[in-house]
Amino acid sequence: MKAAVYYGPKDIRCAEVADAVIRADHEVLARVVATSICGSDLHLYRGALDAIMEKGRSRTGHELIGEVVAVGKAVGRFRPGDRISMAYSASCGECYMCRVGQTAHCETTHKAVYGFGAAFGDLNGTHAEALVLPYADAHAIKVPKEIPDVAALTLSCNLPSAVIANRLADIQPGESVALIGCGPTGLMTLEIARERGPGRLVALDRVAHRLDYAKKRGALALDTGEADWKEKALAETGGRGFDKVIEVVGYPETLQAALDLVRPGGTVAAIGVFTDDKFNLNLADVFLRDISLHMNGFANVQPFMWEALRLLERGVVDPTPLFSHTFSLEAIDQAFRTFHEKADNAMKMLIRP
Ligand SMILES: [Zn+2]
Ligand SMILES: [Zn+2]
Repeated sequence: MKAAVYYGPKDIRCAEVADAVIRADHEVLARVVATSICGSDLHLYRGALDAIMEKGRSRTGHELIGEVVAVGKAVGRFRPGDRISMAYSASCGECYMCRVGQTAHCETTHKAVYGFGAAFGDLNGTHAEALVLPYADAHAIKVPKEIPDVAALTLSCNLPSAVIANRLADIQPGESVALIGCGPTGLMTLEIARERGPGRLVALDRVAHRLDYAKKRGALALDTGEADWKEKALAETGGRGFDKVIEVVGYPETLQAALDLVRPGGTVAAIGVFTDDKFNLNLADVFLRDISLHMNGFANVQPFMWEALRLLERGVVDPTPLFSHTFSLEAIDQAFRTFHEKADNAMKMLIRP
């Protein structure tokens, strides 16, 4: 079968690999109907996680809409023909961490993440014609036929992460909110935040077409490429700072921006995927300003997939317009390049094996 394989920084290509087969009773074999590329995959693409990827062997992809082809003997919730999606992290549903809702920290799978190399469980990815889901009963869900493939793809990671960002920020009616990062997850976070009645909603990014989208969805959009963006943003709060700041990027400078924009006693909900191991965090400042700092980029999405599905079913969030490009699996290298360069108004890539 065909699958995307990591060969090195900016070199993820489609290759011929051994067919996916079920080896354990708790596994499900799924045919990949569609997949996509997550913003976190761009950290892999640019080489930030080169050390954990085995060149020529590690696979990529963790967003799935699939069809069950075969199930292991212990699988109770799925049968061949079911249309499914799954959480980006494989969790068992039985261990202590799973039972307390920290499914990304599953003690059975040891923090396994689809398509993220040996350090994260050495699981294969969704950028393939098929893949095996271990402990499928615990972190896969059936998707009703009314939800189109593109919308359903966001159930694996982006949309539940947007739900989590909003829960962490806990926006109250009338509060001022700054959103840093207007990629697909950021924009879905914005859709949900809007429903909570913020008094001010400021969206920040550097990419013009993403800012346009945020503006159309009711936010004041500010370009962080401009010198005075911080002053402009803070002016929206009378210079005091925002009640709530949501960060959906994952760079030291965007976390710093979140801390610069939040008011004393405010909340920073950072769900960006941080891959840098050095960050100049001034804890005295966080302490003296009573800031609640949440970092949950390694998000426990499984407990929020059902809520995400409900948002799709009820039309609160419609991710369909976010899908800007379609590629075949053979052209996954082009899909990564387009998404990475944000070329041609790129937002989210649909990949059809
Ligand atoms: Zn993701
Ligand atoms: Zn577990």
